[in-house]
Amino acid sequence: ALRVSLDETIGDLGFSNAEVRDFVEMNRNLPDIWDLAQGTWEDCSGPSRFKEEAAQEALVRGIHELTDKPIVGVGRFTSPDVMAKMIKSGTLDMIGCARPSIADPFLPKKIEEGRIEDIRECIGCNICITGDMTMSISRCTQNPTFMEEWRKGWHPETMNAKGDSDNVLVIGSGPAGLEAAWALCRRGYDVAVAEARDVIGGRVTRERALPGLSAWGRVVDYRDYQLSQRPNVEIYRESELDVDSILEFGFQNVAIATGSTWRRDGVSRQHVVPMPIAEAAKVYTPDDLMDGTVPGGTVVIYDDDHYYMGGVLAELLVKQGARVTLITPSAYVSDWTNNTLEQATIHARLDEMGVDIVLNRGVTEVAGDHVVSNCVYTGKTRSYPCDAVVMVASRSGNDQLFQGLTARQADWADAGIRSVKLFGDAEAAGPIAWATYAGHRYARELDEADIGDDLPFRREITELAPQ
Ligand code: SF4
Repeated sequence: ALRVSLDETIGDLGFSNAEVRDFVEMNRNLPDIWDLAQGTWEDCSGPSRFKEEAAQEALVRGIHELTDKPIVGVGRFTSPDVMAKMIKSGTLDMIGCARPSIADPFLPKKIEEGRIEDIRECIGCNICITGDMTMSISRCTQNPTFMEEWRKGWHPETMNAKGDSDNVLVIGSGPAGLEAAWALCRRGYDVAVAEARDVIGGRVTRERALPGLSAWGRVVDYRDYQLSQRPNVEIYRESELDVDSILEFGFQNVAIATGSTWRRDGVSRQHVVPMPIAEAAKVYTPDDLMDGTVPGGTVVIYDDDHYYMGGVLAELLVKQGARVTLITPSAYVSDWTNNTLEQATIHARLDEMGVDIVLNRGVTEVAGDHVVSNCVYTGKTRSYPCDAVVMVASRSGNDQLFQGLTARQADWADAGIRSVKLFGDAEAAGPIAWATYAGHRYARELDEADIGDDLPFRREITELAPQ
């Protein structure tokens, strides 16, 4: 096999797509198979926020006619329809898809069996790449069993047998609660999901409406459909519960996945206690914007979160007519997205949209009509006038229900409660992948012996034969 970059996109010193076509034609039958992919890892494996499905189609179309050998191509193929189109149109002979196979290792089997609705489709978030970039274990937002097949024995399609108890009340239907419910019902538990809002999905349902994040909604859509096919799961919408009602219901296990709330006081990395904020200041959080309250005029986004939210909200605000200054103490806008291969694209997008990007500066104080910003190196301050501030700081877990139940632990036995567990963003706010993982882990470990948090990696050590 010979892998060739379809277009190195580095100007005259690199191979252009036209030159690659000449190269394939000159060497048409030399390799057994042509393996075609585009440029750098960032070019080739862009996230759904910036790359359409089959993003390399234009670069690869027509190359088939230049060789008698088969061609395999890549480019964020996630749906069977697009894959089939690429084959039927003669563009490719084989589909190469790494991320969709991480999200669902049984994707080809499900296509073969016509179980299209059972495919756990990749959302293109690139969380799976962050393990490589941070030298830590990789995770997948859609497939929580990824990287735990060997260490924990988690199979992507089958669950362990049910334990001693019979039923679970899952409170919250965000990514953690939905995944817990889906995994629990496959183990054979009777599951009730209580959701305070009139829609399920929690943060995913709200974030999927933000610019570029619609594909993330598959986290909810997949689980929503799968749960609807199961007789042992009921979902109750507009059902905000309190401690007394939970004690009255009599469920044996209570799983609390009530999500998190963005902080308004600026506490995150720069500030470990609330920063000074004038009473007259208009301060909004990402939750406000996702609920539809979007400030206008001149808006400062203070991004001390460093993942996607600050950049995404800058796009939202500009699209709705605001003038945006994004201030971050980091040296990069949306710094953590260096790990998801999209940081450079985010910076370029925001710059093109007219966002004033201010790097290496924090915010020390919010006044009625300006913020005071400090240089992270020298501490020198400068003012930025604004009509409103969007605080993209940290998130606090919504754990009040858990704390309330814990305070009533003496009543659990009479209420028939065997376990109460807090997990997901409500316990420790993080990326969506961490929430689906936490929900899955809860379901796997219910009624099982506690294996703790520090399970060692299993290593397969080759032994030399004693000769
Ligand atoms: S982490 Fe995201 S991009 Fe990677 S395979 Fe899973 S869903 Fe797809």
